[in-house]
Amino acid sequence: THFGFTDVPLSEKQGLVDDVFHKVASRYDLMNDLMSGGLHRAWKSVMTTSIGLPRGPRRFDLLDVAGGTGDIAFRAIDAGGAGVAVTVLDINGAMLEVGAARAAKKRLSDRVTFIQGNAEDLPFPDRSFDAVTIAFGIRNVPRVPLALKEMRRVLKPGGRLLVLEFSKVDVPGFDRIYDAFSFRVIPQLGRMVAGDAEPYRYLVESIRKFPDAETFADMMREAGFEQVAATPMTGGVAALHVGFRI
Ligand code: SAM
Repeated sequence: THFGFTDVPLSEKQGLVDDVFHKVASRYDLMNDLMSGGLHRAWKSVMTTSIGLPRGPRRFDLLDVAGGTGDIAFRAIDAGGAGVAVTVLDINGAMLEVGAARAAKKRLSDRVTFIQGNAEDLPFPDRSFDAVTIAFGIRNVPRVPLALKEMRRVLKPGGRLLVLEFSKVDVPGFDRIYDAFSFRVIPQLGRMVAGDAEPYRYLVESIRKFPDAETFADMMREAGFEQVAATPMTGGVAALHVGFRI
């Protein structure tokens, strides 16, 4: 398989992305820890504390788009009160199966719902959710503007979208180390742990092609979000974007 992506037409991108996550689903959580040196945990904590989850019993409906194995959902339930309910949407059944098994093991099946669907065409009515999150998912979606519009549509007025994604390293010197790490070490890790380097080459390339924080903030404004703010983390390796539907 060729995940080199550079000239892949939009219509084929989704199929390739699906192959990648189908292959890595069972090792996905372990690989996250290995590849980010555990940093993804810190980044995800910043996102969950920025959702504005109620601590008390008030009902709060969170949609986690491209939620995969449910990592953000479980963190949100830990961080918030008893009224927090999470819908995890992902296009990939293999990732969702891992998530549903985790939910059952944690006895959280009544608080987390797993739904297979496409971020570009969300299967929910307008104004359904108090907040929407997407972590390391948006760069995999072929038509980002469509997905942003959809996420805004399903938000209640006053609700916020939080996007956690890899960004652009902007620290002189560190960028070279980061390049060497991502182009050499990550595919090797993929080979050793998941038995295949190709999906991880796709991962690194997709990160390189994703816009910098300011450009992405503009895309959110373009989709109708207001009060958009970007917070770079770890020298720009990742960034959290927040915007509101007013
Ligand atoms: N959010 C999880 C996390 O942070 O651990 C999973 C992130 S994983 C890197 C990216 C996920 O995006 C995969 O589970 C993949 O199936 C999903 N995905 C890719 N394209 C999608 C689409 N068009 N709609 C919904 N999910 C999609």
